[in-house]
Amino acid sequence: MIPFLDLKTQYLNIKDEIDTAVLKVLESTQFILGSEVTALEEEFAQYCDADYGIAVNTGTSALHLALLAAGIGAGDEVITVPFTFVATVAAICYTGATPVFVDIDPVSYTIDVTQIEKAITEKTKAILPVHLYGQPANMEPIIEIARRYGLTVIEDAAQAHGAEYKGQRVGSIGDIGCFSFYPGKNLGAYGEGGMIVTNNPEYTRTMRMLRDWGQERKYHHVLKGYNYRMDGIQGAILRVKLRYLEAWTEGRIANAKQYDQLLANSGLVTPTLMPYSRHVYHVYVVRSPQRDQLQQKLNEHGIQTGIHYPIPVHLLEAYQDLGYQAGDFPHAEKAASEVLSLPMYAELSAAQIKTVAETLQSLVQGVTV
Ligand SMILES: *Cc1c(COP(=O)(O)O)cnc(C)c1O
Repeated sequence: MIPFLDLKTQYLNIKDEIDTAVLKVLESTQFILGSEVTALEEEFAQYCDADYGIAVNTGTSALHLALLAAGIGAGDEVITVPFTFVATVAAICYTGATPVFVDIDPVSYTIDVTQIEKAITEKTKAILPVHLYGQPANMEPIIEIARRYGLTVIEDAAQAHGAEYKGQRVGSIGDIGCFSFYPGKNLGAYGEGGMIVTNNPEYTRTMRMLRDWGQERKYHHVLKGYNYRMDGIQGAILRVKLRYLEAWTEGRIANAKQYDQLLANSGLVTPTLMPYSRHVYHVYVVRSPQRDQLQQKLNEHGIQTGIHYPIPVHLLEAYQDLGYQAGDFPHAEKAASEVLSLPMYAELSAAQIKTVAETLQSLVQGVTV
């Protein structure tokens, strides 16, 4: 069996360091925030070429606080894509603001920058591009439009730790960058976790307060805040894992290159590396109109895959109140019906990649004739 994700092998490779780091926190009893979390904030901000890092309990909380720090609330509109994980859109709704969707570019799967301007209204306050699958959105035109209309740019970098746009690390390109440390992400905690990075000291001060009940100091609640704090244990684990992130990312990139070569003549659409990108392949996504049959057959051959994501957010039951309907975002809808994520992690062996690619290739020939 070739699993879609293998968190066990990675843990076993670094077990001694992780176990030592966890025990140190247990002995220190710094269970919430504390020195490990503070050190992680500094190290991760530095990794993103940002001035400040604010650790939180999830990537969703990171997005929520970034939006609040930018002053977004009821009556405002935030432009984003419908082809993303639901959390991107949920976080906008948490603030009381309205998500306004723009379709994706079908080649990069990220926001179609040529369609942003016509979605801007008097109420628009921010653009929230998603670096989907680990490939940066086309940030230069996004920033240019944002500056022209006075909008904040918040990057959803939950899938893109270490990705680069024209040589610049994601997270520090827009005004605020948000990351998730959900276990399956490129940098994953052993539980929940998230991080916000920014160069703005005012936003930093606000977000630090908001994540900890709006306190300026203990029991002095300046803002109506939240309990979005990171655990000390997760901070310690993430510090160990951050030291391996570049090597793991290079592993993912090498594995993607191998898939690219083996699938070049398969008839499947493989990922397009945009000229501005360092793509970090959170997932390796191929496309086929026969996606569902392929997934089922691969599963019968012991190869696990994923679909990111089968239903675009504008068609999800929970978001019908936004008033969109089928046909509104044709590229997002078509992608949702065709994308298939293959096993992808640094620990995947060359032999496993070959098995996946060869099985897939033979199935494509089988299901299309
Ligand atoms: C994972 C993810 C999130 C949410 O992160 P959590 O840590 O699970 O809350 C947000 N946006 C995208 C694109 C994600 O992939």
